[in-house]
Amino acid sequence: MTQINVIQPGTIETPPGDIPFLLLPERSIFQARAARLSALAEGHALAEYLRFLAALARAQHEAMALFRHVRPPEAPELERCREHGMPPLGARGWDRDPVWREALRGILTELEAAALPEAARAAIVRLKDTDDASLEREAETLLAGEHDDKLDRAVTPFIGAALQAYWLHLVTALEAGAFGRLEVPHLCPACGSAPMVSIVCIGSDHGLRYLTCPLCSTKWHAVRIKCVFCDTTKGIAYYGIEGGSDAVKAESCEACHGYLKILYMDKDPNVDALADDVASVALDVLMAESGISRRGTNFFLL
Ligand code: FE
Ligand code: FE
Repeated sequence: MTQINVIQPGTIETPPGDIPFLLLPERSIFQARAARLSALAEGHALAEYLRFLAALARAQHEAMALFRHVRPPEAPELERCREHGMPPLGARGWDRDPVWREALRGILTELEAAALPEAARAAIVRLKDTDDASLEREAETLLAGEHDDKLDRAVTPFIGAALQAYWLHLVTALEAGAFGRLEVPHLCPACGSAPMVSIVCIGSDHGLRYLTCPLCSTKWHAVRIKCVFCDTTKGIAYYGIEGGSDAVKAESCEACHGYLKILYMDKDPNVDALADDVASVALDVLMAESGISRRGTNFFLL
């Protein structure tokens, strides 16, 4: 593993004009993700898992049609949340429309037809037999971030996939102006989740860094070369894998002994937060060996 100081603090110019604080995802994000996962699978040590996630992303896209009748919060509720710095689609305590379970069953049915690892096939059989109350409990545990021992890891990717589709619907049913800044700036302004990775953009947002939400796929702005969790600008270091992709680094903080991955679109314009996070799991292994803890949330890397 090599340590690379990508950019020195203070060398990044703020582009003219206002920085958009929030970028809403496209409703078609799962299609793009499936393509990225398939491309990353070529010759990859985790090819089977990446192809499974590509099939899952295609099924997530199909499931989006089920949510058409699900309405997002009304204007007064959105305003109340903006006033109090609260996420209007808060993952915890959200009264989920039962249609998310229909989406889950649709995803399971789609995947039955795909070439799958044996463990995934067994998990589908188990999930199809699971009653609604137990599915709700699994969802609650996953959304609460209680990932340590309470979760059935084999079923988590499916539950996570259905919840991602449901929250993508909610967030894309609203405009960016519906959301305000939160008291805790490292949490998703839409759903309150902790970030998955950060991405340095190109195009009109060139050079700006955005945090990405593991649940609703919203991106929100974060200053670069600063720990997003404890706000320090000292002791920030960047790690990559020798001979690995230049587009993925681990940004670590000396103060909180944690790291969050950072993806660089100028090195690879096709990076996808979730796909590239999973495909670079070798970097997580090396960081763990160095005793630096992962801070990013990813339902497919638990
Ligand atoms: Fe979110
Ligand atoms: Fe920190």
